[in-house]
This record gives sequence, structure tokens and C-alpha cells, in this order.
Amino acid sequence: MNNATNYFMSILRNKTTNQKMFRTAAHHLAHILALETMKQIQYSKTTITTPLNVTIDGYTFEKDIVLVPILRSGIALLHPFLHYFPQAQVGFMGLKRDEKTAIAHRYYENIPPIESDDIVIILDPMLATGGTALDTLRFLQEKNVTQKQILFANIICAPEGAKVVKSKFPDIRLISLATDERLNDEKFILPGIGDFGDRYFGTE
Ligand code: URA
Repeated sequence: MNNATNYFMSILRNKTTNQKMFRTAAHHLAHILALETMKQIQYSKTTITTPLNVTIDGYTFEKDIVLVPILRSGIALLHPFLHYFPQAQVGFMGLKRDEKTAIAHRYYENIPPIESDDIVIILDPMLATGGTALDTLRFLQEKNVTQKQILFANIICAPEGAKVVKSKFPDIRLISLATDERLNDEKFILPGIGDFGDRYFGTE
């Protein structure tokens, strides 16, 4: 991790950080995550002409992008990602994990048509048990989206969640700014940041 990422991550992790600062740090980290994600996208060469009428090689996205934030925490990543992928289609997956069992329950989905050569970027700031990730990946699989088309972007992941996702979907690309130590008995990430959604949206 570089210094900028470390700095904003420290604000996110600190339990005394207030909601405004938490949001600000989350937005900065989401921008860093979007730039990391851009490194994983294929580009094709094109020709561009500068205002000085010089024609040079340029780069453009090779494929169309579909962003899929997982509600509700994924919303925090959506706008930062739209800065980098302004022409992306956006689909939503609504999943809530049961506080006691930590099992994800899907309550909403609204995904645009996905073509066989589109790239799908799933957005969820925290990858903990992998339950919501697996449900989303299975849903996309049923829609004939291949693993190679999928990137999963998160700010922090637990090794347990990353392992289960990679074991069941080995060909997707996982992009995490930090891999933490482990999950606790309540399936929260340690050292972690607490409940991302509660701190970002101001709920309990
Ligand atoms: N979701 C969160 O917001 N925090 C965790 O630690 C795990 C899942």
C-alpha cells in the first residue's frame, strides 16, 4: 500500500473518525480502487488528433463496462467509479446479511443486458465471508456472464472470503486495497473498520 492509501485507510479504521471524515476517506479510497481497477481493463489502440493537429496513437477501452454495486454499501463506490467509467451501464444487486447467521439474503436485482464481451465490475467495499459475493457471482453465471468477464472491487477483504470466492470462481479478478487478518465470531473483519454501511450512512 502506498502512503496515500495508508493515510485514508487509517482514517477509515479509526473508531473516533466521524461520519463526514469516514465518507471523505471512503471516497478517496474508492478513487484509488477505481484506478487500480483501470489497470486490469483491456485497452485498444486508436488514433487521435491533438488541438495542434498532430495525429498520435491513443488508447480507448476495448470493451463496454457494466458496474454492479451490491446494495447498500456498494453505493459508496458507485459515483467514484462513474468518474473513471462514465459510459458504464449500471445494475444493482440488493443483498442483506442476517446479523446473526451472516447469511446473505437477496431482496432486489436490476441488471441491464450483459453482452458476451462486456466487462462487469462488482462493487462492494467489504469482502467478509464471501456470501454476498458468491450470490452475485452465481446470479451473473445464470445470466451466462463468464468468470473472465468479471472483476470484483473492494476496499478491504478477509482472507476467508477471498479464499472461498477464488476457490469457486477461480477466473474472476479480485481487486482489494487491503487484505486483513481474519473474521471474528460475528463475521466482522479484523482489524477492519466496523460496519461500513452504518458508518457511511449513519445508521446503527
Ligand atoms: N461488512 C462490514 O461492513 N464490515 C465487516 O467487517 C464485514 C462485513
